[in-house]
Amino acid sequence: MNPLLNVTGLNKSYGTVEVLKGIDFEVAAGEKIALIGPSGSGKSTCLRCLNFLEKPSGGEIHLDGERIGVRLGRTMSDRQLAPQRSEMGLVFQLFNLWPHLSVTENVAIAARKVRGLPAKEARELALEMLAKVRMTHRADASPLELSGGQQQRVAIARALAQKPKLMLFDEPTSALDPELVHEVLKVMEELAAEGRTMLIVTHEIAFARDVADRVMFLDGGRIVEQGPARQLILSPREARTQAFLRQTR
Ligand code: ADP
Ligand code: MG
Repeated sequence: MNPLLNVTGLNKSYGTVEVLKGIDFEVAAGEKIALIGPSGSGKSTCLRCLNFLEKPSGGEIHLDGERIGVRLGRTMSDRQLAPQRSEMGLVFQLFNLWPHLSVTENVAIAARKVRGLPAKEARELALEMLAKVRMTHRADASPLELSGGQQQRVAIARALAQKPKLMLFDEPTSALDPELVHEVLKVMEELAAEGRTMLIVTHEIAFARDVADRVMFLDGGRIVEQGPARQLILSPREARTQAFLRQTR
C-alpha cells in the first residue's frame, strides 16, 4: 500500500543557512510518528514545510499521492494551497483561539471555513469534536476562562473539525504548566487509539515511547536515526541519539 505521506529530499535554507538537509520519510495511514530532537534541530521547520507554511527549498511532499504545494512545476498560491492544507490538522505550542468567540464557535469556524459546512452542521460537528477532547462542559465558555490545558484541547478539537487526513502536532504541551500536560497527552493518546494518522513533535519521551509506532530523531537538519518507538528510545544505536536521550532523563 502507498504511504499516506511521502517526503523525499526535503530541504530548507534561510539565506545561506541550511536548516533541513535532505529529509526522507514516509507515514502510513494510521501510523503514529514522534519526531524528537534538540532545540534548533529543525523539527518545527520540517512540520511547517509539510503544508507549505514555509516554502521548502527542495524536495517533494506527497499526501495521498498528491504533490503538495507545487502544480505544473510552479509553487501554488495560498488560495490554491488551502484545500491541501485543510488535509493536515496542525496543533501548535500556543493555541491561538479567538477570544471573542465561544469554545464551540472556535471549533465550528474551522468546519465552516475549511470544510464549507452550513452553520448547523458545523456546530454539530464542533460539539462532536469537543466531546472527543472532553470539553463538552465548557462548550459555551470563552477561551479566556479556560486553563492552558483546556485551551489546547479546544485547539485539538478545532484541528479535528477540519476532518484532516493527517494530524500534525508541534510540541503541544511545551507551553503548559506541568500539572496540565497530562490531560492533553491523554486526549492525544485517545486520538491515537482511534487509528488516526499523527506526526507529533514532542519532548515527552515517555509519551513517544508508549504511544508512537515509530520515532525519528532529528539533529542538525538530518534524520540521524529512526525506528520502532520502544527500540529507538530504550536502545538507540547512534551516539547522538544516546546523548540526547540521556539528557532528557
Ligand atoms: P526546532 O523546532 O527543532 O527547535 P526550528 O525548526 O524552529 O527548530 O529551527 C531550526 C533552525 O532554523 C534554527 O537554527 C532556527 O534558528 C532556524 N530558523 C527557523 N526559522 C527561521 C527563520 N524564519 N529565519 C531564519 N532562521 C530560522
Ligand atoms: Mg520547534
